[in-house]
Amino acid sequence: MIKVDHISKHFEHTQALSDVSLEIQKGEIVSLIGPSGSGKSTLLRCIHGLEHPESGKIYLEEEWMDPSNEAKFRAQRSKMGFVFQHFNLFPNMTVIENCTLAQINVLQRSPEESEKIAMRYLDRVGLAEKRDEYPNKLSGGQKQRVAIARALCLHPEIMLFDEPTSALDPEMIKEVLEVMTDLAKEGMTMIVVTHEMGFARKVGSRVVFLDSGKIIEDAPSEQFFTNPQSDRAKDFLSKVF
Ligand code: ATP
Ligand code: MG
Repeated sequence: MIKVDHISKHFEHTQALSDVSLEIQKGEIVSLIGPSGSGKSTLLRCIHGLEHPESGKIYLEEEWMDPSNEAKFRAQRSKMGFVFQHFNLFPNMTVIENCTLAQINVLQRSPEESEKIAMRYLDRVGLAEKRDEYPNKLSGGQKQRVAIARALCLHPEIMLFDEPTSALDPEMIKEVLEVMTDLAKEGMTMIVVTHEMGFARKVGSRVVFLDSGKIIEDAPSEQFFTNPQSDRAKDFLSKVF
């Protein structure tokens, strides 16, 4: 459903991605892992269309995501939900307003329908009673669950997560990982940049290991964790376990 075809991206003097290719099928849970600066966020942002590679193409369901075709590009982007490390909730809006804004503005849903859908997903992440709170009244774990609910309100076909638990205290990591695990079980296609190796191994179906802007390994999760092929992956795993 997603095809990354030979993309490269640099920033000033840094080659963030060099000739990266990757195909992801519906229902896969792909963990993107690798050392700091290896290009994980850049790859995810290129897939979501937040960054544009200078060469290569991204395809969503066989169709090229061409940024110059603005209306189509916007529609393609709206099929993907993105969850950031730092939640990116609008601080001046309540939880329910955060969850209805894009439904109303991007999908042109009515406020009533948007609210109904928002409540369904807030209920699912266990936060229906927080509907009228402002984000600064929520814990980090609650904020991240609102961010996930907000993304789900747009009915994405694929969810992209960039270190969704890295900014959280340990006791809040679990509640967010549980929501993500439920989503995975329901068959959501997911690409997750994560340092949570337990999640990558147990919930993820596949690991893509990046180093210095290149894919070094791409393997089923269990195989990656029990029998990594490259020295770089072995070295990485020896440091995280
Ligand atoms: P981390 O685990 O620390 O989040 P990462 O694997 O997500 O790292 P990226 O953020 O994709 O890595 O960065 C890849 C390289 O590109 C790094 O060397 C980084 O410094 C550089 N880079 C990323 N974004 C920018 C930017 N906007 N401007 C300049 N350099 C950037
Ligand atoms: Mg990153």
